[in-house]
Amino acid sequence: MKQQIYWHTTVNMPGEEHATTPLPSTVDVAVIGGGYTGLSAARTLAKRGIKVAVLEAETIGWGASSRNGGMTLTGLKPAMQTVIKRYGRDLAKQLFQISVDSVDTVERVVKEENIDCGFKRYGHLFVATKPNHFDYFHDEVEFMATEFNHNVRVVSPSELKDEIGSTIYHGGIVDEVSGGLNPAQYVAGLARAAENAGASLHARARVTHLTRRGTRFFIQTERGNLEAENVLVGTSGYTGSVTKKLQRKIIPIGSFIIATERLSDELANELSPKNRMIFDSMHYLNYFRLWDNRMIFGGRAAFFPENKNTIARSADILRREMIRVYPQLKDAKIDYVWGGTLDFAFDMMTHVGEIDGIYYSLGYAGHGVAMASHLGKTVAEAMLAGNIKEHPFAKFDFPGVPLGLYNGFPWFLPFAGAWHKILDWIE
Ligand SMILES: Cc1cc2nc3c(=O)[nH]c(=O)nc-3n(C[C@H](O)[C@H](O)[C@H](O)COP(=O)(O)OP(=O)(O)OC[C@H]3O[C@@H](n4cnc5c(N)ncnc54)[C@H](O)[C@@H]3O)c2cc1C
Repeated sequence: MKQQIYWHTTVNMPGEEHATTPLPSTVDVAVIGGGYTGLSAARTLAKRGIKVAVLEAETIGWGASSRNGGMTLTGLKPAMQTVIKRYGRDLAKQLFQISVDSVDTVERVVKEENIDCGFKRYGHLFVATKPNHFDYFHDEVEFMATEFNHNVRVVSPSELKDEIGSTIYHGGIVDEVSGGLNPAQYVAGLARAAENAGASLHARARVTHLTRRGTRFFIQTERGNLEAENVLVGTSGYTGSVTKKLQRKIIPIGSFIIATERLSDELANELSPKNRMIFDSMHYLNYFRLWDNRMIFGGRAAFFPENKNTIARSADILRREMIRVYPQLKDAKIDYVWGGTLDFAFDMMTHVGEIDGIYYSLGYAGHGVAMASHLGKTVAEAMLAGNIKEHPFAKFDFPGVPLGLYNGFPWFLPFAGAWHKILDWIE
């Protein structure tokens, strides 16, 4: 088994060619972070004739955007009942609609830019890991139809075999609007699209210092300085101390994936006859789908971000979990394992806005394939229009932790991990 991102073997990822592109001395907009958020923003801005530079610490697409499960999902991380309770019906409707529009955005960009990343509306399947979880599913379907005019479908335990070749679940919900893609192919295509539109992309250009004098930003990077009128931050789970106020609001959480060897057509079809994007109802959730007859199986196996140790440990945990779901895979070879870092806000919501004149879009909580693509675009548009406060995702508080108890190092993750395990046990 290789500790390598499987998706990277399927495409020519952007590489060191962007490490030598000279930094412009001034730009209209400097974008920090070369993932879906940054590239989508850069494409949007460059298409409108704005001079934009994407500054990426590693290589373009290096972050979560080329490491994820490729699930292009509707919905937000918190349950929509919770979202209504917190923000009221009207805003909740707008927020949910944005999640649906986000999938449309991915579909449209893939088509317009001719990105060969296998995007298709496979639909997602949410499976109940306990009988009492399934008890809520009928209410949930009715709630989504009446409150959000969004039609999803209950799959009873007896119908589940048409959806998934596993017998451990107690029913499910199918949403046909969601899609799936190959994330590395998608981010590589998005990078090409941003460049074609006129954006300049700069790898190995970690931003180390950011100051504002008057209306201009002075930006130091590892390989030179530049000035910008505006700055947009799309650093997700890799947000660092250069934007300290944002770092203190984001919890970086590791997520890990294994990819099996290529399975026979017959076995692949048995495991997931409709090729759904599948995830379960646990706090320590598993998510999985097929790609090119490989089972791509992910989970929050270790809470801490990726390194050689957390990846190795996660490989064993994920393999055990995969065989628990699919005993048919007990002899399947695991070819690849890798990890990446997710970004969670303390309220599990996505947040966009402006802080000290710096625009940001962060906190995707595992929903960034669609949302980062869409919000990168809409935050860039709001920046141009000067109306970011009107953006629905800017209309509620972006909470931090009082008394300076959190400085960006998630010391509480082992406790949070243990707490999630307890919740999974008792709920
Ligand atoms: C294992 C895993 C599985 C996931 N599965 C799914 C899924 O199936 N569906 C889904 O919707 N979402 C999923 N996600 C989440 C999704 O991948 C992210 O929400 C999305 O990619 C975020 O995109 P982004 O552009 O905001 O950030 P990223 O792609 O993480 O890019 C941020 C970039 O910022 C750069 N950076 C940081 N600091 C600096 C600096 N100072 N200077 C310059 N550059 C800097 C980093 O190097 C990084 O490349 C998953 C994430 C992981 C890790």
